[in-house]
Amino acid sequence: MIIVSACLTGIKCKYSGGHNLVESIYKLVQDGRAVPVCPEELGGLPTPRNPAEIIGGAGADVLSGKARVVDCAGQDVTEEFIIGARKVLELARRVGAVRAILKERSPSCGCSMIYDGSFQQKKRPGAGVTTALLRLNGIEVRSEEELGKT
Ligand code: SF4
Repeated sequence: MIIVSACLTGIKCKYSGGHNLVESIYKLVQDGRAVPVCPEELGGLPTPRNPAEIIGGAGADVLSGKARVVDCAGQDVTEEFIIGARKVLELARRVGAVRAILKERSPSCGCSMIYDGSFQQKKRPGAGVTTALLRLNGIEVRSEEELGKT
């Protein structure tokens, strides 16, 4: 079983109320091979919601208390992001998932790039909060952009 970002399966859980459908990932769910999750909704945030970015580091820094997640209105949503990540990990364990495919550049689901906290569309290398927690617990996480690559 594979954990996948819910927005990649066409579920409208993006901060804007939209989705990021990738047909091949939707098919994994249809075939009973993947479970869709949205860590930000699992953390209690509404949809739509203000976009958020990690300030002062990447996902692992948020987990260790060195960085925060803040939305574009200045509201600190670190706690919600951490709760959501923990719920995804719990679910992964429950279904026996050892792999995940998550949405690149999201502050929760990003795999190798995230936005840099300036809210100016600038990116920096690093993973999101959920990706970092899954990797710390031995789950292999790749982005939808790496699908089909070796
Ligand atoms: S938190 Fe992850 S699953 Fe939810 S909308 Fe953002 S990228 Fe998609």
